[in-house]
Amino acid sequence: MYNPKSQNAEEFISHEEILETLEYAENNKNNLDLINKILEKAKLKKGLTHREASVLLACEIEDKNNEIFKLAEQIKQDFYGNRIVLFAPLYLSNYCVNGCVYCPYHYDNKTICRKKLTQEEIKNEVIALQDMGHKRLAIETGEDPVNNPIEYVLESINTIYSIKHKNGAIRRVNVNIAATTVENYRKLHEAGIGTYILFQETYNKKSYEELHPTGPKHNYAYHTEAMDRAMQGGIDDVGLGVLFGLESYKYEFAGILMHAEHLEAVYGVGPHTISVPRIKKADGIDPNTFDNGIDDDIFAKIVACIRISVPYTGMIISTRESEECRKRLLSLGVSQISGGSKTSVGGYFNPMPEDENSAQFDVSDRRPLDDVIRWLIEMGYLPSFCTACYSSGRTGDRFMEICKDQQIHNFCQPNALMTLKEYLVDYASEETQKVGFKLIAEQAELLENPTIKTTVLENLKKIEEGQRDFKF
Ligand code: SAM
Repeated sequence: MYNPKSQNAEEFISHEEILETLEYAENNKNNLDLINKILEKAKLKKGLTHREASVLLACEIEDKNNEIFKLAEQIKQDFYGNRIVLFAPLYLSNYCVNGCVYCPYHYDNKTICRKKLTQEEIKNEVIALQDMGHKRLAIETGEDPVNNPIEYVLESINTIYSIKHKNGAIRRVNVNIAATTVENYRKLHEAGIGTYILFQETYNKKSYEELHPTGPKHNYAYHTEAMDRAMQGGIDDVGLGVLFGLESYKYEFAGILMHAEHLEAVYGVGPHTISVPRIKKADGIDPNTFDNGIDDDIFAKIVACIRISVPYTGMIISTRESEECRKRLLSLGVSQISGGSKTSVGGYFNPMPEDENSAQFDVSDRRPLDDVIRWLIEMGYLPSFCTACYSSGRTGDRFMEICKDQQIHNFCQPNALMTLKEYLVDYASEETQKVGFKLIAEQAELLENPTIKTTVLENLKKIEEGQRDFKF
């Protein structure tokens, strides 16, 4: 029985409710009156239910689809302006005891080179990442209680935060590790993590069990209820995601929105981010063997519909996607991207060819971070290395309240300008500096609040003189 307030996975992600939703969406995909009503509601920018959103996703009326894309662009602009937050993944260990059939880390893959970074190696990785200009990392491990116990993850977080190299610092460590206990989530919270990210992979229980035939990840309920335990452990920023290609995209879309509704209903705060990875080629993994691959047009529609349905939830796209694809999705709703990423363990400090064999999946966008930053600026975006909300305690419901009131601009825009200036002064090529300084000057002029504007202009000057870490 469907119950968004239940803490039982099969009740808040009810299979029957998803099937009924898909049927309702299919029956109404050309229902102009209903689609108009849903679009009117969406224009209020307070989000949509999973049923309403599923009708928009299924909609086959061309004019209305154009309206959906336009509205997504508008909402993106209203909530996020032209800012794009940058991060990098840091792979700590690819040891894994699970049997996930789409993932090269699966335990019986004998060809992948298994690696686990020592604290010294983590230090080298972090210095390499700081030298690129990164301030925000997402750490990744396979699931292996012997090789990657929670103590290893905690020690690694500590190491990462402790490294201050030149003007560099990692100011926010997000964590993407397997579902764990409330007690372990509490430890992660106490270690000062940013967002806890866990991809559901698929919301369809039957497919989930087939795709995860062995290992602790086989347990659908334990995995699906992980965000509840994370919140009970004190983590209030959680990041959802599904791996598109494994199951029908319409099923996953309804499922992820129901998950968001569940978190909102029980904890009063929806997901901080939603990631939209698509399955990629990897060691021993051929994406074509999965039946549910989605093309770029459907992918764009999914991103637009998520943007409209949960306007205040950040959306993340990784370097799994090409430059061209990322460009299209940025305007439709993506607010965070990775740049200069390596998915191999130890790949930042020591990008040896054989290391690539420890990689999780093939990266499509292989450009260095400096190229990504210049590309963003040239398209009119404002790259941001900001982590101020996290360091000022604006997380969970406090963040969402400000975001829902569309007040976040007053914090984000100044912080984006100041962190971009830090990046340009410390790490950028001359070419990037040139376009970047110009953009900062133009954007600072546009700040509406005179007090904020004066402070930002003063701080930008101080950054030029060598001072760091200003924030609103
Ligand atoms: N081990 C952790 C877990 O069990 O959730 C998460 C870390 S894993 C390194 C991060 C994510 O990569 C997975 O959740 C999965 O969605 C994604 N992934 C795995 N294989 C992939 C592939 N072949 N292509 C694209 N993404 C993949």
